[in-house]
Amino acid sequence: MQLVNTFYCAMYFQQTVKNPVSLSGIGVHSGKIVDVAIKPAPANSGITFKRVDVSSNNLIKASYENVVETQLCTVVANESGLKVSTIEHIMSAFWGLGIDNALVEVNAEEMAILDGSSAPFVAAVDRVGVAIQGAMRKYIKIKKEICITDADKFVRLSPSDEPSVECSVDFNHPMIGYQKASFAEMSGNYGHEISRARTFGFVKEIEVLKNMGLARGGSLENAIGVSETEILNPEGLRYKNEFAKHKLLDLVGDLYLAGHRVIGKIEAHKCGHHLNNMMLRRLFASPEVFDTVEMMVPFSRFSGKLYNNISQK
Ligand SMILES: [Zn+2]
Repeated sequence: MQLVNTFYCAMYFQQTVKNPVSLSGIGVHSGKIVDVAIKPAPANSGITFKRVDVSSNNLIKASYENVVETQLCTVVANESGLKVSTIEHIMSAFWGLGIDNALVEVNAEEMAILDGSSAPFVAAVDRVGVAIQGAMRKYIKIKKEICITDADKFVRLSPSDEPSVECSVDFNHPMIGYQKASFAEMSGNYGHEISRARTFGFVKEIEVLKNMGLARGGSLENAIGVSETEILNPEGLRYKNEFAKHKLLDLVGDLYLAGHRVIGKIEAHKCGHHLNNMMLRRLFASPEVFDTVEMMVPFSRFSGKLYNNISQK
């Protein structure tokens, strides 16, 4: 019964973490140890990063508008140009767990990569639990299809009352090829089905990055390593379609920079951080394709309305 109540409350009301929780790990590009603390934040404040290694102007709002780089990961910056990079995995965990508001303290320019997935963030939040807040959760309800393409790549949002995500990849590589992953938000278990999917790197590309002074902390501890002929990690893959699942994990993390979850169908093929951000910029420039809504609580659904449109408020 407790579970059922929590599930329904989580659909209607905003949530934060119940208590602060800390974790630390290597930054994949710097190779240095990074400390991260996830702390409760007030309703309607969203997700904010705080660079605790800097004494002033150190808050960076997790918003699509603050995305300044998308080449290797998603990087956000504030008006002073202060950055935090590789935010997509913690954002994905917040999306999956229904965390609307949190302060994320970090003592470096880069988030900890941990095991290359979002599972350690999910486990950290699970350790302290979530707190339901006294404000309705807002959603972005898609009214009309919107699609952004780049050659054969696309990200598409279309109307649906049963939110879902579908993501496919197609690598001309014998170890990957075409893979698809999907997730049904109402019935799915993000922690179990998605969060353990790790980022991946091709050995050839990793050498190039290391020569550029990047990926210094990259190892088989925090990524799937793929050579021409094999998966290098001795433990193998965590899911048979782990590559597509990781792309889905990144996609929802990047799209959560909208500030709210989407009610609709999210579909993507060969997407990446750049295309994901372009989708949000196009979406917010097209107010006719979505409404901002709150879910009507059961006792107020006598009118037959599922959502309360608050776009004009
Ligand atoms: Zn990723």
